[in-house]
Amino acid sequence: RAKEQGRSRYHLYTSSMDEQAFRRLTMENSLRKALQREEFSLYYQPKVNIKTGQIVCLEALVRWQNPEMGLILPNQFIPLAEDTGLIIPLGEWVLRTACAQNKTWQLLNYPPMRVAVNFSPRQFQQPRLTDMVEQILGEADLAPCWLELELTENVMLQNVEKTVQTLNRLSNLGIHISIDDFGTGYSSLSYIKKLPIQTLKIDRSFVHDINTNADDAAIAIAVITMAQSLRLNVIAEGVETLEQMKLLDGLNCPEMQGYLFSKPLPVAEMTTLLSNIKWPDMTWKDPTLH
Ligand code: C2E
Ligand code: MG
Ligand code: MG
Ligand code: MG
Repeated sequence: RAKEQGRSRYHLYTSSMDEQAFRRLTMENSLRKALQREEFSLYYQPKVNIKTGQIVCLEALVRWQNPEMGLILPNQFIPLAEDTGLIIPLGEWVLRTACAQNKTWQLLNYPPMRVAVNFSPRQFQQPRLTDMVEQILGEADLAPCWLELELTENVMLQNVEKTVQTLNRLSNLGIHISIDDFGTGYSSLSYIKKLPIQTLKIDRSFVHDINTNADDAAIAIAVITMAQSLRLNVIAEGVETLEQMKLLDGLNCPEMQGYLFSKPLPVAEMTTLLSNIKWPDMTWKDPTLH
């Protein structure tokens, strides 16, 4: 009986494995064609300076609209793009599109903001990265100070010497460097003083329960305090509620990002948002005004 059970379980297991492998292959084939078919688009999410109410930056977040599979979020295809190397051409497309879009908003006379682009570790290790970035900025005619790169601390796990060198080059161009999902990676803190970075992004896993979980609050306080002492900027991501915002404001966290302010929006909707709010707009600071 046990044998029978075992066999049927084994059977189930292999068929679901086949299915998974098949799904992955289908995804990979579709992903390969997606760039030529122009199935990717960028959504943008504001980062807000809580004191002035101004949008300081828009983070570009990639979306994949596949005719068969529908809208696919990055967590479902970025890892595959990494494994297959497709992240390199995709990443270039994201950077080119984001820089061109920021230039367009500048030409439309919106208050200048940075545009932030996420770089995965593999992208960051690619040869001639700085040349590529410089070329794209040139093509877009965008000054480097309006570009921000978001890297996770896991890029430090690769080749530290080379990472420092690349970051120095990018930083010397005037590009803003942020450490994304700060506090969730595996690297030691000592790299922070070695690297030319401007901003720490407190991961949203620490923000989610910040009002009720003392450990999460303690981590947020530690990151904010450390950023202040090291003269780094700090931003909290995933701010969804007024309570989270008030607590973080009380901790003197200068910048925030999250659904409370705006979800990531496609270009047309972001442009409408930029036209409609009179920045600085402080109404969200006072709940009685809502
Ligand atoms: P991330 O860079 O940490 O981006 C934040 C993620 O949290 C985004 O998910 C965003 O939509 C979501 N988010 C923002 N505010 C809130 C909030 O208030 N509550 C909650 N629950 N979520 C919020 P998304 O767009 O699905 O992206 C997931 C991850 O995929 C990103 O995490 C980033 O690591 C990666 N990614 C996105 N676009 C790109 C890209 O163009 N290139 C690379 N290499 N990675 C990308
Ligand atoms: Mg990010
Ligand atoms: Mg993040
Ligand atoms: Mg994240």
